[in-house]
Amino acid sequence: MSGFWQRSFGIIFLTFITFVLWAISDVVIALTFFSVALLLLVILYIRHLVALDRWLRTSDLSLSSIPDASGAWGDVFAALARFVRQHSQSQERMSLALERMQRATSAMPDGVVILDESDHIEWCNSMAEHHLGISLALDTGQQITYLVRQLQFVGYLAAKDYSRPLILKHSHHHQLVLSLQLVPYGYKQKLLISRDITRFEKIETMRRDFIANISHELRTPLTVIGGFLETLSEEEQTDAAMNKQALSLMSDQARRMQRLVEDLLTLSRLENALNPMKEKKVDVAMMSRDLTREAESLSAGRHHIKLNLATDAQLTGSEDELRSAFSNLVSNAIRYTPNEGEIILSWTVQDGQGLFFVQDSGIGIEPEHIPRLTERFYRIDSSRSRETGGTGLGLAIVKHVLNRHQARLDIVSNVGKGSRFNVWFPAKRLLLESSANDQD
Ligand code: ADP
Repeated sequence: MSGFWQRSFGIIFLTFITFVLWAISDVVIALTFFSVALLLLVILYIRHLVALDRWLRTSDLSLSSIPDASGAWGDVFAALARFVRQHSQSQERMSLALERMQRATSAMPDGVVILDESDHIEWCNSMAEHHLGISLALDTGQQITYLVRQLQFVGYLAAKDYSRPLILKHSHHHQLVLSLQLVPYGYKQKLLISRDITRFEKIETMRRDFIANISHELRTPLTVIGGFLETLSEEEQTDAAMNKQALSLMSDQARRMQRLVEDLLTLSRLENALNPMKEKKVDVAMMSRDLTREAESLSAGRHHIKLNLATDAQLTGSEDELRSAFSNLVSNAIRYTPNEGEIILSWTVQDGQGLFFVQDSGIGIEPEHIPRLTERFYRIDSSRSRETGGTGLGLAIVKHVLNRHQARLDIVSNVGKGSRFNVWFPAKRLLLESSANDQD
């Protein structure tokens, strides 16, 4: 039987009974019966309607509060119950998906802001709060340009050309450099994505400075060599003495370029994270003796050089790298110390740490230069550095070698009196037992 006939069965049956009553008694009794039965039916329907209305007005529309009924109303309420169940299941799924989305966007390293068509903030993640100085709780509904007021940003938003990101310095923390990109989506909505590119900017600046510095370093020797070659090729008659002098000056400049290239290669090897350190036991005392001999030959008797070995402790590390770092310190001491000055090399253990130092009685360093000395190409007196064969990379190499050994450089200096370059090695790198007979 179809739904319609099933639902109409009651009323048809009632009509049938009414006709039977009419046939066996009189019309008044039949119509009275029909009216009373209809009235009861209407009251029942009204009761169910009121129950439905009350349920629809409850705020939670929960399954437990759905009205009870039998017959046609029972079917309606059962269908409603099914609908409510499906609805609450899909709502639960949606809120779970939303929660997942919010958790994922909060974990994103980039900031995300959703803007409506008039650039009001609809939502943002915590990284955007940090990058742009906005607050989801306080600023939702606010115009983004009231909060990010930099003219460049206002112009970027107004220009409506979002093909390229905008690079912006943070208005409060000037260290922070942001890349802001607007992505239109949906119905005139926009996503504002902010990315912290401070590191990239720093690397880019370093790269630019580095290329400028190398070009500058190479230009002088190349100009000298090029000039001499031009003169020699144009000279009709060559003067042997002049030729000899030119060749000697040219080879000086070639050596200078060679030193520069060697130091650059050393630096690049040290900076290469894929180049692991070849560690072994390093006999610092023996290395210090070698370095003292090298210093004496470099000084050629112009300085008083002393060696002070208070321990025979060894180090674990890279022998080549440590030799290169210490040798840079020793050669600096000689180059920045006038004749008759004193230079001391020392290896000792202090407070459980290994201490290697090179002390000189040289020209000294003003305190404001000390923090920058390990930067590449940083020189206090460029001409003195170049005249004495410096590349400006020695202390940068020292810094990298020490970093790879978790060691620390501290510089103590007095202008006109001298400097001391202390290298501290952590206890874990020290081998304190007597090592005279140790073999690798
Ligand atoms: P350079 O090749 O110019 O010596 P470094 O990186 O070795 O480059 O040193 C950087 C700068 O630090 C030098 O140019 C010099 O001005 C200063 N410096 C380094 N060692 C000494 C020292 N022992 N005494 C005085 N100044 C020093």
